[in-house]
Amino acid sequence: MSYGVIRKIDKLGKIEIPVNIRRALDIEAGAMMNITKDGETILLNRCENNCVICGRGEFLYDFRRKKLCKYCIAMINEMFNIDID
Ligand SMILES: [Zn+2]
Repeated sequence: MSYGVIRKIDKLGKIEIPVNIRRALDIEAGAMMNITKDGETILLNRCENNCVICGRGEFLYDFRRKKLCKYCIAMINEMFNIDID
């Protein structure tokens, strides 16, 4: 077994993924992550097949190599169709 960077989990259960790992795997702030357990190991995988905003896995459209669901597209469309006078 290999040991990498050791980090402390905070009171809310959050843990920081080291920046060198995030950069190597192209994980940006706001990325949706799938968290699973395999025995005593916690696995983190980027949700590449889910909406980057809400995490839904259905009704998806590609936008600049990212996935957006129809609900978030509708929400964004509604936001940007607001009349600004
Ligand atoms: Zn969405």
